[in-house]
Amino acid sequence: MVGSVPVGGGAPVSVQSMTTTKTADVEGTLQQIYALAAAGVDIVRCTCNDEAAAEGLARIVPRSPVPIVADIHFQYKLALAAMEAGVHALRLNPGNIRKPEHIKLVASEARDRGLPIRIGVNAGSLDPDIAEQFGGATPEALVASAQRELAYFGEVGFEDCKISVKSSTVPVMIDAYRLLSETVDFPLHLGVTEAGPPPAGLVKSTAGIGTLLAEGIGDTIRYSLTADPVEEARAGRTLLEALGLRERRGLDLIACPSCGRAEVDVIAVANEVMSALESRNIPLQVAVMGCVVNGPGEAREADLGIASGRGKGHLFVKGHVVRVVPEAEMVGALIETAERVMAEGIDAVIASAEAGAAEEAAATRVELLRTQGEDANHSEERIARIRELAD
Ligand code: SF4
Repeated sequence: MVGSVPVGGGAPVSVQSMTTTKTADVEGTLQQIYALAAAGVDIVRCTCNDEAAAEGLARIVPRSPVPIVADIHFQYKLALAAMEAGVHALRLNPGNIRKPEHIKLVASEARDRGLPIRIGVNAGSLDPDIAEQFGGATPEALVASAQRELAYFGEVGFEDCKISVKSSTVPVMIDAYRLLSETVDFPLHLGVTEAGPPPAGLVKSTAGIGTLLAEGIGDTIRYSLTADPVEEARAGRTLLEALGLRERRGLDLIACPSCGRAEVDVIAVANEVMSALESRNIPLQVAVMGCVVNGPGEAREADLGIASGRGKGHLFVKGHVVRVVPEAEMVGALIETAERVMAEGIDAVIASAEAGAAEEAAATRVELLRTQGEDANHSEERIARIRELAD
């Protein structure tokens, strides 16, 4: 348990992030913690890098909506201070708190207080002797560092641990966690360290964390982005929902990529729908599709959606067209329908479909197919023009 959040042993995978404020700034840090909690984090880590930060933690912990982990580097005394401040867990970096007597003292105190510790191995700050022994921050070296820390903990009878072996190189991170999961039986915290700013940071993190989660490895996750930590929280939550590891809390907007058949600017409509529905916390899958030819069918798994055609918006619920409105009104109508689905349920909305809506959509579809044919991308015309140029 990290505070009230269960970790490992079949518990739901939890999302973590880390505050970027000075921990001594109590109000600023709490404001960020609340924003992170609203975005979907389960656990927040704050640095405890000096005495003022430890004192800040003593004020932050009782007012935080989620459990707080103190991040400790170099100074074991700050781990003791953080425990005194009432944090729910510690993160120790074995690469920079290296004296066995210090590690054992912290572990003994955590044991007596019933507090968990994450052994947070990081490729960038690996114990120098282990790096030398393995010829660098290899997966084996990262795991060896965690095992050495575990052995110190074992000497004082402490085993309430979670482990991470992060690297900024995705294949190294993946191999390290795979090896670790075969070697130890502790909950694992996943992350690609220093992943960088989005979009590359998001892609790297998703590649590493997502691969491992899909293999059943990992109990808590963190996206380490060079961005507002709220972005980390959203990304972590979205990944877990996408993998079916956590229930959907809010909107899941799907949209077609658009193509030559599109009857509307799909990107603009998707953005409009996103900003209209995002803040409403509606846990529905909503589809924005560029044409009525393929839209309702391709998005039939979505709870509801819109598809354009001939200046009209075709609203569909689970693939059934329930309403046809002028294109200018379709985003508003979609929002109304989403609210009706929430209030009355999907079946009731399908049952009260407007008379003639499905027939009108079918007729528009036939008309579009007739006029666009199979060559909606106008490939043949383009090829003819290319050939003219070549002549
Ligand atoms: S065929 Fe229609 S629904 Fe599919 S990508 Fe093209 S515009 Fe979107």
